[in-house]
Amino acid sequence: MRLGDVIDDHCVKCRRVTNHSIVSLVNGEAAKVRCRTCYHDHDYRHEQAPPSKKELKKAEAEAQAALAATVDGGHGVEEPSTNPEVV
Ligand SMILES: [Zn+2]
Repeated sequence: MRLGDVIDDHCVKCRRVTNHSIVSLVNGEAAKVRCRTCYHDHDYRHEQAPPSKKELKKAEAEAQAALAATVDGGHGVEEPSTNPEVV
């Protein structure tokens, strides 16, 4: 690999894999690349897309649902307000 070589990588701005030029090399591997479609510079991602906002929201929604399920399952098991040990 050499500077200026064209490789495929995922561009967050284009939101897809596009042609990129290598702008920085570390140990003979691409470290930074520039999208040839929108000229956005970024770290080489090995063609991996970062988690999208949709995926993050989905994970968050699932966490909330799990939490809600836990609360729903706790009906009727609340401790009485007067605890003899605290007095
Ligand atoms: Zn791009």
